[in-house]
Amino acid sequence: MTQPTTSNPTDFIRDIIDDDLRTNKHEGRVATRFPPEPNGYIHIGHAKSVCLNFGIAQQYQGTCNLRMDDTDPLGESMEFVESIIHDVRWLGFDWADRLFYASDYFERLYSFAVELIRSGDAYVCSLTPDEIREHRGSFTEPGRESPYRNRSVEENLDLFSRMRAGEFADGAHVLRAKIDMASANIVMRDPIIYRIKREPHYRTGTDWVIYPMYDFAHCLSDALEGITHSICTLEFENNRPLYDWFVEKLIPGPRPKQIEFARLNLSYTVLSKRRLIELVKNHFVQGWDDPRMPTVTGMRRRGYTPEAIRNFCAQIGVAKNDNLIDISLLEHCVREDLNAHAPRALCVLHPLRVVIDNYPEDLVEEIECPNHPQDPDMGTRKLPFSRELYIEQDDFLEDPPKKYHRLGPGREVRLRNAYVIRYESMVKDEKTGQVIELHCSYDPGTRNAPPADGRKVQGVIHWVSARHAVPAEVRLYDRLFRIEDPGSEEDYTKHLNRESLEILSSCYAESSLGTTEPGLKYQFERLGYFCADPDTAPGKPVFNRIVPLRDSWAKAAGGRKG
Ligand code: ATP
Ligand code: MG
Repeated sequence: MTQPTTSNPTDFIRDIIDDDLRTNKHEGRVATRFPPEPNGYIHIGHAKSVCLNFGIAQQYQGTCNLRMDDTDPLGESMEFVESIIHDVRWLGFDWADRLFYASDYFERLYSFAVELIRSGDAYVCSLTPDEIREHRGSFTEPGRESPYRNRSVEENLDLFSRMRAGEFADGAHVLRAKIDMASANIVMRDPIIYRIKREPHYRTGTDWVIYPMYDFAHCLSDALEGITHSICTLEFENNRPLYDWFVEKLIPGPRPKQIEFARLNLSYTVLSKRRLIELVKNHFVQGWDDPRMPTVTGMRRRGYTPEAIRNFCAQIGVAKNDNLIDISLLEHCVREDLNAHAPRALCVLHPLRVVIDNYPEDLVEEIECPNHPQDPDMGTRKLPFSRELYIEQDDFLEDPPKKYHRLGPGREVRLRNAYVIRYESMVKDEKTGQVIELHCSYDPGTRNAPPADGRKVQGVIHWVSARHAVPAEVRLYDRLFRIEDPGSEEDYTKHLNRESLEILSSCYAESSLGTTEPGLKYQFERLGYFCADPDTAPGKPVFNRIVPLRDSWAKAAGGRKG
């Protein structure tokens, strides 16, 4: 198994930084940033970027800013800002006092735009959005110049200030950089810098009716903050010349270097914010924190740990080529972390009543058992044992095959941490024929000890004391999508897995779980890892299955339990 990375990782981005440090490019400074747009909750792909940017800052004793890239008022909100702050902190990172908002730069960005107009590098264009698109050309054809391209500086300044003053309707004019309509790179064909958008902004209210475009705001925000390495995903590769163009024109000095890496794609889920918003809005899931969502908040609710997510991000590394990472790698990291840290507990999902006929009726034994088989520091707990128990329905078969090491007519099995019991008889529902109760006998000499006569009992099953057990709800989750790469499908919702949530409402958990609290995680022996959900009420725990014990999707893994 891969161990968590303790040494510093290496990759092409860190190679670039090492080179820059060697040549003293930024006087030895390393400054990165994580720039989410607060128009949704962050997901595991963002977590990759968070780990990369903050991880580099830690490694090089540099800084990493958290910057809300909030230049498009549509869909942005304080709720999302707060969620991002909470999630990045939860992932284990700290930005000290360097929380910034691109919207705080609106006034300066406006001045930068005016500067471009003054130097003849920007003009107000009054073509319609459709006409602008037509003039842009294509990969094979150069663009055509706008008839407004040669407006005078005075006219541009006048129109731009009137755009700001709110004299024009949305789409009537835009401000464009005057670069090169024949450029082979379409991004450089007089890109739009500002557009009119009469939309209130969650921070600046109605102060502005014009908003800067991402390509303009992002690079200048980086430069204003003294960012040295501006790490983004591959789709911005073609925008890099524009990034450099704006910064060179407007902010002299050492320029932040844009470096692109491959975004994370994860199998059986989608990692586009637009699609996640659709899943939430159309109620395909129950919210951003639905435990099936690839969001950080969903994963937290599900019971994933920040350590597991960080370890996953370290293991996938950063590369230049797009690829699809198998979600089972993430689950493996989660399992590995929980195996080391989650206390063990017993819980029966599909209860079958068992009466131990030869056990005294009012006797209750408190069996002290370890919370973790390898970690004595995790302490012990007392497990009550009494005459009536619950075991799993599928731990009994009326007519079991030879290799079935659980209960059946004539068979014995060990109860975890307790006694060996032997099957005596069963009670069936008269109508359905279903087995509803077992009668067994126990061997008093086998409490945590092998049978005295040396006979072998192979199977061990979990159980709870019926009188002491706490009724619990358990929610089982499966892949959100039925196909590996739903992100590549236009009609991706068609591939949603309608059986991704199964609610078991009549489970029984061992008595110690009656006082569990949301967020606490356990290994339910033989079943997997579970996390108490915020829906937990006093005495009525609700658990989410985080991951099964084994990867049930890996075909070679065989049966669920032995
Ligand atoms: P969308 O998912 O709709 O493309 P977005 O990912 O661009 O939206 P932002 O809030 O702008 O959303 O992203 C913030 C940062 O996270 C950006 O630097 C972006 O490059 C990075 N990022 C976003 N998605 C991923 C991903 N899947 N893998 C790695 N980094 C990502
Ligand atoms: Mg973006």
